[in-house]
Amino acid sequence: MDVGIGLDLGGTDLKFALVTRSGRALETGSVPTVANKGTRGLRVCLVAAVLAAQAAAKRRRAKVVAIGMGLPGAVQGREGRITVVPPQIPGIGGFRVAYELRRIAQVPAAAENDATVAALAEARCGAGRGRNCVLMVTVGTGLGGGLVVHGRVVRGACGTGGEIGHGVFVKDGLPCRHDGLAGAGCLELYTSATALVRLHAEHGGDPALSPREIVKRARAGAKAAKAALNELGTNLGLGLATAAVLVAPDVIVIGGGLCNAGRLLLDPVRAAFRRQTLRPLIRASPIVLARLKNDAGCVGAGLLGLEEGA
Ligand SMILES: [Zn+2]
Repeated sequence: MDVGIGLDLGGTDLKFALVTRSGRALETGSVPTVANKGTRGLRVCLVAAVLAAQAAAKRRRAKVVAIGMGLPGAVQGREGRITVVPPQIPGIGGFRVAYELRRIAQVPAAAENDATVAALAEARCGAGRGRNCVLMVTVGTGLGGGLVVHGRVVRGACGTGGEIGHGVFVKDGLPCRHDGLAGAGCLELYTSATALVRLHAEHGGDPALSPREIVKRARAGAKAAKAALNELGTNLGLGLATAAVLVAPDVIVIGGGLCNAGRLLLDPVRAAFRRQTLRPLIRASPIVLARLKNDAGCVGAGLLGLEEGA
């Protein structure tokens, strides 16, 4: 059986999976991310993950025919050169991800932003299955964004297509985490798990609580936690309303760690969206939670390699 190796780079782990053409993860695993040694460290963990995935494929008598990777940042061109560096893995700007993966694994390779590959996975075999235009956001440390149209990821002129997290939400707002732009007011600064901690404190909650604990408290009915999630959801709904008027997606999928808040997140998102978007979009662009859980990044990366690797 032909498989693609799908890699999902995070600040602590580099996950891998063997992915079939139908988007099934046959086997998954991970190696630690070497996050503090720049491009040299990144190359070391890429080699380790590829070797482990190749060994797993051999055991299963699967043939590795492609490789793909998703990473928190942006890449450009066929070589997958990193142009927006993830703050959690500094010093890797300019690294040519797809070029290196091609050399390491000796198969066609491709690389993309991690929310973009998650969008591809959801479009192919998750909440966006059968839809033509899938807009996805991932609510985690930041707000990732990805767009898949007619089955292909939208990269745009420089690989940053779909990055709604860096759209302006507040004039003269908070500085952007990615390039330190003062007053950038990016949407992700008002809608991410990081923002939830700040909003929770602003509503009088304990500033030491983690996003996960805040969600747990909200479920138990704690006022500050519920108010923080409500404000965050409203912000996200407004951001999605702006994105929707531009592309009129068939479906909007919300993924990422904060998804475990369920209706506590989804309800205010939908309410704000309904209030602010064009009438026809309310029906045409339903907002749903992601269906693929932890494996979405690896599955999407594997599919990307299989379908667009070069
Ligand atoms: Zn930004």
